[in-house]
Amino acid sequence: MPSKQAIWFGCATMLFSALLFRQPAVSSAQDQTPRAATSNPARNFDVQKLAEGVYAVVRQDLPGLMVDANNVFIINDEDVIVVDANGAPAITKEVLAALRKLTSKPVKYVINTHYHDDHIRGNQVYRDAFPGVEFIGHAFAREYLPNQGAANRKDFLEGAPDFRDTIKDSLAKNKNLRGTDLTAEERASYESDIRLVDLVLREGAQAQTVLPTITVTDRLTLYRGKRVIDIRHLGHGHTAADLVVHLPEEKIAITGDLVVWPVPLVGNPQSKIGAWAATLEKLRGLQPSVIVPGHGPVLRDDSYLKLLADLFGSLQRQTAAAVTRGETLEQARKSVNLDEFRRQFAGDSPVRRFSFGMYVVGPAVAAAYREAKETH
Ligand SMILES: [Zn+2]
Repeated sequence: MPSKQAIWFGCATMLFSALLFRQPAVSSAQDQTPRAATSNPARNFDVQKLAEGVYAVVRQDLPGLMVDANNVFIINDEDVIVVDANGAPAITKEVLAALRKLTSKPVKYVINTHYHDDHIRGNQVYRDAFPGVEFIGHAFAREYLPNQGAANRKDFLEGAPDFRDTIKDSLAKNKNLRGTDLTAEERASYESDIRLVDLVLREGAQAQTVLPTITVTDRLTLYRGKRVIDIRHLGHGHTAADLVVHLPEEKIAITGDLVVWPVPLVGNPQSKIGAWAATLEKLRGLQPSVIVPGHGPVLRDDSYLKLLADLFGSLQRQTAAAVTRGETLEQARKSVNLDEFRRQFAGDSPVRRFSFGMYVVGPAVAAAYREAKETH
């Protein structure tokens, strides 16, 4: 059993690491204007048409410590394929209601891009609504979910109330997790976190795990009329079970958490830094003109993919050099310089800088260091 620090709770790793990786205070040059909160957090998404019959369901939660997954509808002549479910059945019920406004065709396949709870807890909604629906996931997801996945879910549900209370306390005291006064951006982000944690906790214990009924290790291609739906495992990155859904005709790539905006979600030990850079280059090689990330807005070029690949490549090179110099992990944390990447990913935003510290500086340096040690 890995230590608490080593456990990756799904994309919502924040519960413990928020408290473990306290960052030095940073000054904020300006606050960003947050989007107004919606009254129903389960419905906090936009449906965006990407191509004929292809729609992205894009979450509008503010960047923060708690996130939920984007989804995609692929509406074919006779049926529908959905990519990813959500972190709570209540959210997926709203997503399904949005689908019903577009078509009455049945959902035939749900593709889960990986096994994290914020992408799969809503599976049961499709299973209940569509008898015979099949769930497509990586073979490792089927192995992971009943074992480490169940243990991580339990830890998450046990830790979430404390996390929520910590965030509520921060709001009440007007202090962020680093102890400095909250900016408007941070306040809105914390409030968004609390809405999502509450939503997940309301149903978390009851949500059933629906395993893949069809597994993929390398590639599975579905044909629907003229449409090609190519499901690819391009390599290890965010997890060992990452799948990309590629629509070559429409030049659309649905990436799961291989691509997350505004900062990547890196888990240690689940993510592999060196492999991630290579996987992203393969993804760029597909030359998509529309990229739907696991979290964040739809991207219209590959510049963010390149930035991510550059970050992971730099992490790999810098930690390898640190290991060659005989540095400990703690020494490597000081010698690895990510200042330029922090500037590019986070700018002056305190929320993004904190996320960069939590998801990149903390776990990514440790993961890259471990990989460098293994190959040294
Ligand atoms: Zn994830």
